[in-house]
Amino acid sequence: MTIPELISQSNGKARISYELLPPVKGSSIETIFSTLDRLMLFQPPFINITYHREEVSYVKQADGSLIPSVVRKRPGTVGIAAAIQARYKVDVVPHIICGGFTKQETEDALIDLDFLGITNLLVVRGDGDKITGRFTPNPRGHRYASGLIDQIMAMNRGIYHEQYVENPTRTKFSVGVAGYPEKHPESPNAEQDLLFLKEKVDMGAEYIVTQMFYDNELFFNFVKRCRKAGIHIPVIPGIKPITTKEHLNMLPRTFHLSIPEPLVREVNNCKDNKQVKEVGVQWASGQIKELIAAGHPFVHIYTMGKVDHIVKISENVL
Ligand code: FAD
Repeated sequence: MTIPELISQSNGKARISYELLPPVKGSSIETIFSTLDRLMLFQPPFINITYHREEVSYVKQADGSLIPSVVRKRPGTVGIAAAIQARYKVDVVPHIICGGFTKQETEDALIDLDFLGITNLLVVRGDGDKITGRFTPNPRGHRYASGLIDQIMAMNRGIYHEQYVENPTRTKFSVGVAGYPEKHPESPNAEQDLLFLKEKVDMGAEYIVTQMFYDNELFFNFVKRCRKAGIHIPVIPGIKPITTKEHLNMLPRTFHLSIPEPLVREVNNCKDNKQVKEVGVQWASGQIKELIAAGHPFVHIYTMGKVDHIVKISENVL
């Protein structure tokens, strides 16, 4: 089923979807299963699995010098999605990114997903470089998520990148995209950001999952602005609970988002991160309850691979 179909079938019943990260290279898939064994008790409508491109890591040599080395720390997105789908019979949404891929490699990955019966995709450009923050596209790949959506929609019409393909199968991919209540950091302004979002929707995106936010008013305004701009697909709010004091600096620095003063004060008053986690659980639970009450029954939680506090939040709101 597509995500909009899941939303309309649930008739306003509150549902929480979860985003998981592939485990770091070398870890067993059991780490994912042990997390999901607990989260599946809440009957999530779908599970997202993020994609992580290769990154440059500096390896210290015996003489103290640093040698750059390209590493992919969290491979396995497609395999994990297939394994989750087979084991839990739940809809899975692997993330597909532009970064690091040629169009040909993207096509091959899409063929793998089609063969595995995975049709729901969250399509994003991908993060910038960890050091400079700058995104550099593969010269034979896509610069923006819209280009990737275009390629996927072409495959849905039976048009493949490799032109020699005979009797091309029409794939049945359904695409979700990212939206930013506080605008994407690289956009010159919120209006321009919305125009680019509309472009992704016009190309065939069927729903939006938002970047995390800590003040629901930002989300409500974002949805209003989307509707005014002619974007009428479902907008699913993304919630990431705060778990450490460091988040107060790291989240705004990394994602260019704001944290409301009362939440900052509560976190600063905590003795340790155990208390911060409890504040984060209460804040996220309050946000989700308000979102559900305001007519947004599908809420997406960024788990970052941690489970105890996510279980608490799910118990609080469902
Ligand atoms: P785009 O829609 O391509 O937009 C990127 C920037 O370019 C924006 O500033 C936009 O306004 C601008 N832009 C768009 N189109 C044009 C155009 N035609 N001309 C000029 N400018 C344009 N990252 C990962 O690496 N892996 C993941 O799994 C992942 N999952 C995510 C899930 C969600 C729900 C969200 C919100 C983010 C996720 N990200 C992930 C992060 C994402 O890759 C970054 O936020 C990235 O910087 C932007 O992705 P996008 O798809 O929104 O980009």
